[in-house]
Amino acid sequence: METCDVAVIGGGPAGAAAALRAARAGLRVVVFEKGSFGRDKVCGDGLTPRAIAALNGLGIELQDAHHIVGLRMIAGKRERELDWPGGLFPDHGAVWPRRRLDAALIGAAQEAGAEVVFETEALPIMEGDRVVGVEAGGQKWAAPLTVLAAGATGAAARMLGAVRVPNETFGLAIRTYVESPRHSDQHLEACLTLSDESGAPVPGYGWMFPAGDGTVNLGCGALSTMKGFKKLNLNKLVDAYAAQVRETWQIGEFLERPRAWRLPMTTQRRHGQGWVAVGDAAGLINPMNGEGIDYALESAVLAIDLFVADPANATHRYDVEVGERFDAFLRTGRRFSLLIGHPWILRSGLRVAVGTDAIAKITLQVMGNLVDGDTPGAAGRVFGAADRALSLAEPLLRKTRAKN
Ligand SMILES: Cc1cc2nc3c(=O)[nH]c(=O)nc-3n(C[C@H](O)[C@H](O)[C@H](O)COP(=O)(O)OP(=O)(O)OC[C@H]3O[C@@H](n4cnc5c(N)ncnc54)[C@H](O)[C@@H]3O)c2cc1C
Repeated sequence: METCDVAVIGGGPAGAAAALRAARAGLRVVVFEKGSFGRDKVCGDGLTPRAIAALNGLGIELQDAHHIVGLRMIAGKRERELDWPGGLFPDHGAVWPRRRLDAALIGAAQEAGAEVVFETEALPIMEGDRVVGVEAGGQKWAAPLTVLAAGATGAAARMLGAVRVPNETFGLAIRTYVESPRHSDQHLEACLTLSDESGAPVPGYGWMFPAGDGTVNLGCGALSTMKGFKKLNLNKLVDAYAAQVRETWQIGEFLERPRAWRLPMTTQRRHGQGWVAVGDAAGLINPMNGEGIDYALESAVLAIDLFVADPANATHRYDVEVGERFDAFLRTGRRFSLLIGHPWILRSGLRVAVGTDAIAKITLQVMGNLVDGDTPGAAGRVFGAADRALSLAEPLLRKTRAKN
């Protein structure tokens, strides 16, 4: 049996950030990644200012990423373009195709001394309830800490019970790439008024995320709280959205077949003896925008910092601290998703969301993962009030949720 201090299952942003942080702290860390080096991940490639802050904290150079200054929100005929506010987080975001972002992150981890074993699936080794390491490629690795960074639920997560909470909100999203003369636009574009084949509004949004390399990431995502979600045809949804933006973005044909993937927004367990779950594996995706790279980086860094400070209590502390940082916000997001699962609320809500500059600024902060009840200023106050109102309304929201 080989030994290491930290075994990481999954080499996406969460796993790479954990490995980088651990290696820099002088730990022996081994990452197991099913894919090969430079593997792609179905994603919008959008980095919020919050993600930029996390990447800066990890010392990742961003010159290969396309600089983004804000967000254009479209709801029907209304359109509002706003810049990221700055302040607590940087005043810019980026679009960085995942093939390159993930390679940069895992490369930095390797440079810092992490060992990365590609094309190898890893599964936790259990002794009763405790995880004592991983088994990968026919080899056993003992480790006092195993980090589950395996993304949306798979075999490793199922063994640990780190699976989505039944009846809770989750999402699905689909994306492809197109060429466009507007590939170097400096605003992300989100169209909040999506409709399915029957014309019914879909809670979610369509996006055009310019990558600055001749291409634009085009995609759309939807929340499970809508009526008919199980029958929603994402391929038709993305075709319809592409038709909608064809003229304004002068796009050509899809450069690759659109691919869809899950957006996990809850988990039943995110820690246990000897292990923690980080990133998507911990259900850390904002239900209001489907974004999770920033949370993946932050949760991974938190897990390792706690392990370095106090190995014996780290997994429990992690559960508490990650909860303090994200649970209330994500719970509000899920309640909100129940609300906008109703078409009439969604329609009128969207008119309000981009109706005035002041409210659009708050929408912008919510779409950028920049706000929670503790955020100073109007956005924080509105968020706090919405949180309280949604909390009171939750029983009713659950009772009247749209059937899918
Ligand atoms: C269509 C779509 C668009 C999105 N757009 C955005 C966006 O624009 N911005 C944003 O912030 N977020 C976006 N997200 C969410 C974002 O992609 C995730 O939050 C992010 O990838 C989470 O990173 P992670 O490291 O937790 O998981 P992942 O990136 O999924 O990485 C997990 C890795 O683990 C590996 N793995 C799994 N099981 C094993 C195993 N047993 N052994 C070894 N390896 C294993 C996988 O191969 C994978 O490489 C989008 C998601 C989708 C589906």
